Amino acid sequence: MKTRYALSLGKPFGIKVKVHWTFLLLIAWIVIVSMSRGLETPQILMHIVFVLALFVCVVLHELGHSLTAIKFGGNVTGITLLPIGGMAHMTKMPEEPKEEFLVSAAGPLVNIVIAILIWIYLAVFQPVNIQEMEFVAITRENFLVMLMAANIFIVVFNLIPAFPMDGGRLFRAALSIKMSRVQATRVAKDIGQVFAIFFIIAGLFVNPFLVIIGIFILLGAKGEYEMIQYQDALRQFAVEDVLNKDYAELDAEDTLGKAAEELVHISDNGFVVKSDGKYQGILTKNDIINGLNQLGREGKVKEAMSSDIEPVKTDAKLFEVFQDMNKKRNELVPVISKDELKGILDMDNLKELIMIHKAIR
Ligand SMILES: [Zn+2]
Repeated sequence: MKTRYALSLGKPFGIKVKVHWTFLLLIAWIVIVSMSRGLETPQILMHIVFVLALFVCVVLHELGHSLTAIKFGGNVTGITLLPIGGMAHMTKMPEEPKEEFLVSAAGPLVNIVIAILIWIYLAVFQPVNIQEMEFVAITRENFLVMLMAANIFIVVFNLIPAFPMDGGRLFRAALSIKMSRVQATRVAKDIGQVFAIFFIIAGLFVNPFLVIIGIFILLGAKGEYEMIQYQDALRQFAVEDVLNKDYAELDAEDTLGKAAEELVHISDNGFVVKSDGKYQGILTKNDIINGLNQLGREGKVKEAMSSDIEPVKTDAKLFEVFQDMNKKRNELVPVISKDELKGILDMDNLKELIMIHKAIR
């Protein structure tokens, strides 16, 4: 998910916390639902405060994951809050079963601690009688009880043993002790899908929200399994093994008309652009189409090319390169060693490698 339309909230422990703009939709929804129920303004404000408090708990949950991951050498770039929950962006995640287990457990553990702290506070300072309490709306009286219940809900929900929930990762980590990571992911994925189907069927009778969760799990399971397969396939290759030295070239001064004519003759997703034999940038199919639209056939290649694509080093890990290309939607990246262009990496070639690997297995 792109986090461009997000508001920065600060940097606890050096981790950027942002809230996605769709969060405003959640607040709007709460206001609309509260108003349609005929609630007064102070009551509506109370609901908003509750959601904000809940999201503080979600941030703490994600910080739990993030700080544990960092402790094991992982790399966390930030946390984004979405209406459905939080998301920690990790560019490197610990893979040792024990480490993955602890990283996954740390999030729910934070919510358990929060629930216990609220419970102690209530027991000491604000003894409540839950049986006499009303739960139609959130009030000053039941606020903390509701917040405690919500934290317990977060724990239970996240312990469902299915991707993309923490439970899926915990389960995979446990299975990884006995089998390979790919096999463990497949078992976790299959079990997750059983849960998903159960949620979807139950949701049709009980609550449509369960259907959404079911679909969310189906997609999460599939995505995680694919990623692990890619990782397994690409792990065996170095950038040097797969780089394409036989790339198509254009001069920076060539016209886009020429680029368009030559495009049909090449098998790659674009051209390497050089000037006086030196690498200048990449001209992808999209660059050509956009360039033709804006500059016409006489436009220069150098005006339309992408010159800011970060070059890959020959000793880089192929799976990390693949993930990065995926994220930035780069179809083609230059491979550079000692200031010299060694070749290019094409997304299609990487996908072919993965397909062949899958077929052989
Ligand atoms: Zn979590």
